[in-house]
Amino acid sequence: MTIAPEQTQTQNQTNTTEFDQYVMHTYARFPIALVRGEGCRVWDDTGKEYLDFVAGIATCTLGHAHPIMAEAVSQQMQTLHHVSNLFYVPAQGELAKWLVQNSCADKAFFCNSGAEANEAAIKLARKYAHDKLNIAEPMILTAKASFHGRTLATITATGQPKYQKGFDPLVPGFGYIPYNDLEAARAAIDKYKGKVCAIMLEALQGEGGVNPGDREYFQALRQICDEKGLLLILDEVQVGMGRSGKLWGYENLGIEPDIFTSAKGLGGGIPIGAMLCRANCDVFEPGNHASTFGGNPFACQVALTVCQTIDQHNLIGNARERGQQLRDRLNAIVAQYPAQFDQVRGWGLIDGLVIKEEVELTSRDIVQACIEKGLLLVPAGPKVVRFVPPLIVSHDEINQAIDTVAEAIAALVK
Ligand SMILES: *Cc1c(COP(=O)(O)O)cnc(C)c1O
Repeated sequence: MTIAPEQTQTQNQTNTTEFDQYVMHTYARFPIALVRGEGCRVWDDTGKEYLDFVAGIATCTLGHAHPIMAEAVSQQMQTLHHVSNLFYVPAQGELAKWLVQNSCADKAFFCNSGAEANEAAIKLARKYAHDKLNIAEPMILTAKASFHGRTLATITATGQPKYQKGFDPLVPGFGYIPYNDLEAARAAIDKYKGKVCAIMLEALQGEGGVNPGDREYFQALRQICDEKGLLLILDEVQVGMGRSGKLWGYENLGIEPDIFTSAKGLGGGIPIGAMLCRANCDVFEPGNHASTFGGNPFACQVALTVCQTIDQHNLIGNARERGQQLRDRLNAIVAQYPAQFDQVRGWGLIDGLVIKEEVELTSRDIVQACIEKGLLLVPAGPKVVRFVPPLIVSHDEINQAIDTVAEAIAALVK
């Protein structure tokens, strides 16, 4: 453990009882309070150092306190941070241009989070259904075990009852299909005769257990959508922005969506979301959709800096190579404990270690043990330990993290 600087040591320790008195209890928090970060490392209020393989849940693309990002934040704050969309915002145009030139999309809309980006995609698909397909009550198919956000429409889109429970009535117009199951998709389209306007999926299911999309499935689905005139919407909120070893998750599947959404990694930890679409479904007109904060100069300039840094520092290549190293080392753990673990799966730097269903051990047990040993990890459901470090992670940091995981597992399994 490295000695943290004075600044950290003199800080008061966080009073978690008082915290819980004032903050709504919507999260099951791990009992540490983080106060400082640098690169792939963070420090808590006792000065303890952690290697951060959570990265704000796949969000801190450039890690913590990256000098390029700090400079962009400070510069833009001193220049202009917010003006509204009553006026042209040059940084918004620049960011849209970068995203369009580096994807299959033609146009971008900006908001502040993943859920909002998906809301925008849902609204666009419905408007397209009314305007172009003449469907009075359009349906959108989404996958079981998916995750699309916490607003009413996006918990409805999320195919996991645990996120919907207690919030009835949900939003009408959604149907659910098992992921990576082509026959089920065909059957659902038939079942809702002429009502389905879009299919909305993650290229790789993140929260649902780091479950990558199947190439053949997505290619066949793309073909079905083309034949039937349906929109294919991809939620790239977690897997996108270089994390998968390609800029967009869909590049791993050999297909292109009509609409896709981005958020988490886009701003490197500054809140921003985007919904992008091809010209064929660009049906929004002035007044159809809006966001006060969406596309503000501050968030857009910082996100543009993140995008340019991904390019200039070859972080997509790093995600690919470090991801391979990570999976190779995790596979060695699976080989060592075949009774406990099923497999390792993922792309680039979004990877999961899958615990066998029948084993008592949970992902939270492993995460808890790793946090105690100075490594931050996040579960993806009860049986998958998720690894989503910053894209700047080094060879040594991957080895250090997996050494810790191996130690934690050895202690838990013995
Ligand atoms: C995190 C996530 C969201 C929701 O993003 P928020 O910014 O929390 O609203 C939506 N879709 C996917 C795939 C996500 O991982």
